[in-house]
Amino acid sequence: MKKTVYTKAGEVGLVEVERPQIEAPDDVILRIVRSCVCGSDLWSYRNPDIEKGHQNSGHEAIGIVEEIGEGITTVKPGDFIIAPFTHGCGECDACRAGYDGTCDRHVGNNWSDGVQAEYMRFEYANWSLVKIPGQPSDYTEGMLKSLLTLADVMPTGYHAPRVADVKPGDKVVVIGDGAVGQCAVIAAKMRGASQIVLMSRHEDRQKMALESGATAVVAERGQEGIAKVREILGGGADAALECVGTEVAVDQALGVLHNGGRMGFVGVPHYNNRALGSTFAQNITVAGGAASVTTYDKQILLKAVLDGDINPGRVFTSSYKLEDIDQAYKDMDERKTIKAMIVID
Ligand SMILES: [Zn+2]
Ligand SMILES: [Zn+2]
Repeated sequence: MKKTVYTKAGEVGLVEVERPQIEAPDDVILRIVRSCVCGSDLWSYRNPDIEKGHQNSGHEAIGIVEEIGEGITTVKPGDFIIAPFTHGCGECDACRAGYDGTCDRHVGNNWSDGVQAEYMRFEYANWSLVKIPGQPSDYTEGMLKSLLTLADVMPTGYHAPRVADVKPGDKVVVIGDGAVGQCAVIAAKMRGASQIVLMSRHEDRQKMALESGATAVVAERGQEGIAKVREILGGGADAALECVGTEVAVDQALGVLHNGGRMGFVGVPHYNNRALGSTFAQNITVAGGAASVTTYDKQILLKAVLDGDINPGRVFTSSYKLEDIDQAYKDMDERKTIKAMIVID
């Protein structure tokens, strides 16, 4: 089968490898139908120290169950499923508290990679896979795109307002206008936010967010951006959703909050000098981490997509064949597309 690997900084390519096999009782082999490139994959893609042939970090897919381990009771060959990037057990304290993105039992081994390929071995599959009714041919391409977002970006977008405890009537600011930021706007609206301000400088992304429920857009950054947000909201925000993962984005999120406000962060952190206590003087609640993909999909998001209540698939502004995977990375890296979908036949 074909599988994506990093070849050098700024380049990926395909290699021919053996199809994965069942190795543990709760493994499932999946035939991938759609995958995609994540904003987080670009960190490895740009890394000048990446070793040639390094496994791609792709971790989002929908597919068909090809083969199951002997411990699998929830899915059978032929089932159409969402393959979350997380692999919660569904039984430990973390999973039961609704934090299956950081399952207590699968510490250090809870996240997928290597999914930009024709097949994958999905570990700890019994509870974590999410079954979709019917078969891919029952759905429009637009609906397949929305189903694919349920592997990562839509649940990740949902995690930000959940951990920031966004409630009906709250004033919310979203930092980051990429796929996760767009999904955070959708999620803030689902949770009843009365005002949603997106910080964005890109017209196409501003437009998409306004159509999804954002009530205002602020293009300014830094102190100027904070002042503009406060002017629009008539004061500080109740919640700020940080969907980038840089220190500048964290500063922006903390800056727009009123004292006692809440920050939910879901951008994978690329900073390490935020001391616990730096928000003491503002009484700000800070919470964040990997999304609870299976929990949100099963409880809320799959139904919302199937009922047509939300349309997160719009973040896929371009589609590519697996053979064109390098172009998919390039176009995302150059911001020519918000998120690149990979169609695998
Ligand atoms: Zn991702
Ligand atoms: Zn668990």
